[in-house]
Amino acid sequence: MEQWLSNVLVNGALHNLLLKQGVIAEIAPAVNSEETPSWDAQGMLMLPTFKDYHVHLDKAFPDDQWISRHQVASLYDQFQMEKDLLAPLKSGQKARARGILQQMLDFGTTRLRVHVDIDPEIGLSHLAMVRELQEEFLGTLTIEIVAFPQQGLIRSQSINLIKQALQEGATIVGGVDPAGVDRDIEASLQAIFEMSVAHDAEVDIHLHDPGHLGLFTLERIMDYTEQTGKMGKVAVSHAYCLGEVSESESLTIAKRLALLDIAIITSVPIDSAMPRVAQLRAEGVRVYLGSDHTGLDAWTPFGFTDQLMRARRMADMYRWNDDERLRSVYPHLGSTAGTFQIGDPADFILLAAVNAEHAAAAAPPREVVSVRGVPVAGRQLQIAWKI
Ligand SMILES: [Zn+2]
Repeated sequence: MEQWLSNVLVNGALHNLLLKQGVIAEIAPAVNSEETPSWDAQGMLMLPTFKDYHVHLDKAFPDDQWISRHQVASLYDQFQMEKDLLAPLKSGQKARARGILQQMLDFGTTRLRVHVDIDPEIGLSHLAMVRELQEEFLGTLTIEIVAFPQQGLIRSQSINLIKQALQEGATIVGGVDPAGVDRDIEASLQAIFEMSVAHDAEVDIHLHDPGHLGLFTLERIMDYTEQTGKMGKVAVSHAYCLGEVSESESLTIAKRLALLDIAIITSVPIDSAMPRVAQLRAEGVRVYLGSDHTGLDAWTPFGFTDQLMRARRMADMYRWNDDERLRSVYPHLGSTAGTFQIGDPADFILLAAVNAEHAAAAAPPREVVSVRGVPVAGRQLQIAWKI
């Protein structure tokens, strides 16, 4: 099972590549060889595939009908509206989730962190659905699952359900606003970190709480991380507060986040403050991007799944107009600006761009997405090589 690709723009020049048993077995200067049959990439740029660090697969509305939302007075009202609007749509949930995964794959996302709603009303039904899809896409998509108590861990009394989820395929303990939703920072974080230790699971907490309430919660998350030895295993999603407080306050937090290797995950919102990405990464904090909203849902009608487009939005927002900073977006997608070596897994995207900076600026269509050397998605899937 091997295949030559010719005229691939990789490592700064045109090359011919040999794909063999799922890896890149050879990278040779592009020369015309009549003897070796190859698939001609016609100068397309090759980039590593992306990871989406924050996905909800159980919240999507159908994309062929309009579900009306109304304005809400509080986060609790929003929670309730979501439940009310999603309840009659339950039967199509899995098909919609499958559609999202296919769309992500078409955009070059091959790895995902999925938050799965869990509460006493729905139990582990959403987890079962995502587990089935995890199985269905095995070998193509790598899906990690966060057991996510959307209605509040303490507030909805979901601790036992989260424990159960951790025995049934979830590998990350989720949480949401220990202050604003659970109304008890200590009880919430204690339960989260206890479960994380007991089940050898990572932690990923949704933190929307604003300003200094959010900042204090972050400080406590850092304390718990340190006390439980969970360095490198904890992430905080959204953390809007880091963009709301002063630069010097967020700098102090950034230094400690780096020390404890806690990651920050953002969807690059344009409707609220977001963590100061440049400051965080200058201090050595891992910052990752996630879609959060994949299309139409109860929270927003403005979601989208294209991670390269999200990186482009970040660069645009921060005016990263120079080459160095345009190239710098890729690690936030779990990717690189496109250097490949012999022996690397043949997981890559081919697209029409002249370099990684150009791709980040233009976010052109993904022509072929390859996983382990097998074309699995993209605009040219039908005419791609067969392996
Ligand atoms: Zn979320």
